[in-house]
Amino acid sequence: MDREAFLRSLPARVHDERVQAAMAAVPRELFVWPELAAAAYEDAPLRIGLGQTISQPTLVAHMCELLELRPTDRVLDVGTGSGYHAAILSRLCARVWGIELERQLALRATQALRAAGIDNVTVLCGDGAAGLPEHAPYDAVNVAATAHGIVPAALEQQLALGGRLVAPVADDEGEQLVLVRRFEHGLERVRLESVRFVPLR
Ligand code: SAH
Repeated sequence: MDREAFLRSLPARVHDERVQAAMAAVPRELFVWPELAAAAYEDAPLRIGLGQTISQPTLVAHMCELLELRPTDRVLDVGTGSGYHAAILSRLCARVWGIELERQLALRATQALRAAGIDNVTVLCGDGAAGLPEHAPYDAVNVAATAHGIVPAALEQQLALGGRLVAPVADDEGEQLVLVRRFEHGLERVRLESVRFVPLR
């Protein structure tokens, strides 16, 4: 599939118009290796090195829809990898902080975001399971690597009132997306569909 075909196919798969526009605005080829640029508009994950992958674009879109982002939101992106998911998030909110464990990927993501003309994302190198308390609370937290058993407590703690978090979580029943929302009386956690991500280390 080329970029034009990809964009034509979006409305059937992504319903939120703001998310559609964000997908249309970010060139995915900037976030993959040059030798994989021809595959940048396949609806599939692709290798980005160090055993990691850039997520499937429609899954990125779906997770953005689940986060119900508003233009004033401040967002934490855990497992920033190539920076593509952070780039889409950045078009839907005010500010994104990304955390990536692998220094090499964090640097490459920063360069790709700059090449895409995106200036409201900061990518830091570190353990995203601890979140980023210095900029908390977040209106939304996006996690792109699978936690075992539960969503890391630090990430839930850094959610603002009304904040949303989406994360893949694995247990005996398999690996599923979990949507968390903070209410005044506490947290609500809902299990959604099965997914496959690389592990949160
Ligand atoms: N959102 C990325 C997907 C990358 S795959 C994209 O759009 O390209 C998940 C990423 O999580 C990998 O790059 C991996 O290195 C990173 N990761 C795994 N465990 C982590 C941790 N504890 N803290 C931060 N990043 C982590």
